[in-house]
Amino acid sequence: MNISELARKLKVTTQELKEKLPELGFDIGLRAIQIPDEQAARVVQAWQEYKNQEEKKKKFGEIQERLAKKEVISDKILILPSIITVHDLAKKLNFSVAKVIQQLMNNGVLATINDNLDFEIAAILLEQFGYKAQKENVEEKEKKEETILKEKLQNLLAQDKKDGSTLRAPIVVVMGHIDHGKTSLLDYIRQTQIAAKEAGAITQHIGAYEVIKKNRKITFIDTPGHEAFKVMRGRGGQVADLAILVVAADDGVQEQTVESLKIIQKESLPFIVAINKIDKPDANPEKIKKQLAELNVTPEDWGGKTICHPVSAKTGQGVDELLDLILILADLEKEKLTVDQKRPAVGTIIEAHLDKGKGPAATAIIHTGILRVGDSVVVGESFGKIRALNDWRNKEVREALPGMPVEIIGVKNMPKVGDILEVKDEKEFNDLKKKTKTKKYFKISEKITKEEEEKEKNTLKLILKADVLGSLEALIEAIQKLETPEVKIKIIKKGLSMINEIDVVEAEKSAAIIIGFNAEQNNEAKKSALEKGVKIFVSKIIYDLLDKIKEEVKITRGEKIKEVFVGRLKILATFRRLSDFSIIGGRVIEGKITNRSKTRVWREKNIVGEGFISGMQVNKKEVDEARENEECGVKYRGSEEIKVGDILEVYKEEKS
Ligand code: GDP
Repeated sequence: MNISELARKLKVTTQELKEKLPELGFDIGLRAIQIPDEQAARVVQAWQEYKNQEEKKKKFGEIQERLAKKEVISDKILILPSIITVHDLAKKLNFSVAKVIQQLMNNGVLATINDNLDFEIAAILLEQFGYKAQKENVEEKEKKEETILKEKLQNLLAQDKKDGSTLRAPIVVVMGHIDHGKTSLLDYIRQTQIAAKEAGAITQHIGAYEVIKKNRKITFIDTPGHEAFKVMRGRGGQVADLAILVVAADDGVQEQTVESLKIIQKESLPFIVAINKIDKPDANPEKIKKQLAELNVTPEDWGGKTICHPVSAKTGQGVDELLDLILILADLEKEKLTVDQKRPAVGTIIEAHLDKGKGPAATAIIHTGILRVGDSVVVGESFGKIRALNDWRNKEVREALPGMPVEIIGVKNMPKVGDILEVKDEKEFNDLKKKTKTKKYFKISEKITKEEEEKEKNTLKLILKADVLGSLEALIEAIQKLETPEVKIKIIKKGLSMINEIDVVEAEKSAAIIIGFNAEQNNEAKKSALEKGVKIFVSKIIYDLLDKIKEEVKITRGEKIKEVFVGRLKILATFRRLSDFSIIGGRVIEGKITNRSKTRVWREKNIVGEGFISGMQVNKKEVDEARENEECGVKYRGSEEIKVGDILEVYKEEKS
């Protein structure tokens, strides 16, 4: 077919078409005059998709523009988070979900009850309902949460009774500037304080570990650097009893040293300064002490109260004494460390992850009480019965004593760092269970039968992430068209956020592919995807993504496919046409016409479209097949307009 003819058909200039084709994934060159008919048909389809997409963008752009103008209609202010579900928005407005969905539709946004809306869309909707939206101040919200958690923990700990008193292990956090040696120090302590034969056997640790010094236990939170900051800053000050502030002797006090100090002071945490890297020739501990004194942290040997102890995480010099100093400091905190081991356990979550075999898993540090397998617990918004407990060496234990870090298995959803764990008695637990609606963050796949396995083989599973609802909808719509009779496409999850590690875990579990349309992926997701062999495709251009999905469809059905001719239908009448399907009537002029079959539309000598037969009638009865010379009605799925005189060529694809 001539390119100029194709351009005319698409109602653009030849030049425009040629320029656009590479963007749509067609490589025909600027000088080409002809294009193979089959390729032309694909261009027609891609063009249609492109046009639909443009229209969507335009519609969405209008909404954005109106928002930019900030036409404020009312002073009634509602605080909204950056993302809200349709359901929650309706609840906030005190409207029915249907009303909200209807209004969204009026704005060209198709959404269901559980879909997420970003702030911009929700804000427009509020305006239309006569409200003004204000974005929630995340910091303030976190602060509020932090205070609530702090108070809650304090109240819980205040319920300790004297008769169950025991002295628990101090919990120590290591803080300081990046590269000053926090990890090295934690590693050195861990490696030297456990028996050599055990060292090799430890494959996984859980964000904290215990060492024994002078027959006493010390628990170290093993999340240095920024993670420790996050834990500490959020609510971690509540977890640790003591801190070690690492300052490299060759580098001195830096930005994060000061930041750490502020947190330590705010939480009134007793601490020791470990002046690290003293093995280095340019180490200058006195300079560090001077810098600290300037910050009003005066070292003991300068007449102040702060213990500054020189160490080398490389050679181990001074580390043993550092542990002794921790015990001395812990003795000064005896009152705080004396807890009640007869009461129901209370702990704080310091880390949570999704374990492939075990489901949601989290590390808790137990403050008081003893946590036992079988206990009913409430953890933040989640709850469950403790199925298993693992110590930091990944050994199963029946109970976790106060001060101990332990991996807990059995809660229904992933807890958050900083969540408080509480053991509840049976009645209280059941009441709470009824009240707490389980949020579905993910599904743990159940065992699948052989038959389902077969079906699964021919299903391409996708996890879709996009930046805004408009793009997500456009993507879903386009993807649905890529389904073939052989390969079903199943969207197992969709959302409006960054691609994260949970997505990767879910993708691995279901053998799915992750598609990000204008959505970014975080580093953990990237790393985890590489390790697990999960495919992630991210692009700002929808056609790139669709091409990738097309390739995956081919891979799913097995690369080598051969086409087998089935029959031809001459179109005698057209009855109805919607955007993506038409009802047409015709006569079988060769072979037979079969339902649920792929088809091409020929007009004279050109292919003008490709589609799929998704329903058939002969004499007003539903049938699956029409033979030569029979007349039949056909529901044709495809976007192009079918005309009287066109020929529908039906074919099958078989593996060769
Ligand atoms: P972090 O970012 O604070 O956890 O620092 P790291 O433990 O990763 O250490 C940063 C760098 O300093 C690494 O290359 C370590 O090998 C090195 N390092 C850490 N402690 C010492 C030490 O005591 N002496 C020497 N010479 N190098 C050290």
